[in-house]
Amino acid sequence: MGQVSINENVMDLTPDGPRLKGMRCNNCGNHVFPMQSGCPKCTSDDVEEVQLGTQGTLWAWTIQGFPPKAPPYLGEANPEKFEAYGVGYIELPGQLKVESRLTISDPSLLKIGMEMEIVPETIGMDEEGNELVTFAFAPSA
Ligand SMILES: [Zn+2]
Repeated sequence: MGQVSINENVMDLTPDGPRLKGMRCNNCGNHVFPMQSGCPKCTSDDVEEVQLGTQGTLWAWTIQGFPPKAPPYLGEANPEKFEAYGVGYIELPGQLKVESRLTISDPSLLKIGMEMEIVPETIGMDEEGNELVTFAFAPSA
């Protein structure tokens, strides 16, 4: 039993935590997440995979109070057992804004511009008993 990334095209799971796989365009410098084969801004295909930053600032947020549509959502879908969680955009300096689950679901603890860092979040188990891990952002320690 161990931990597995819910989607290896989107995120690697390292001993230091999740690392997001983004794309940088060598033509215009645009960053995209998740990775794709061409730049949506200038249509260049001169792009490369880059690891996105692990720290940023909270740019916007909301509270997800009911189970999102599945798929792509993989967590608890039963409305009776579902627990509300925060969702936000984290601005990664020099890269882009990434939409992410937040570890905080209390609106009084969330503030635009606060420093955040990426952390692993277990959202379920696969058939072999491995923990399915996604990423979330938490206030920086
Ligand atoms: Zn481009």
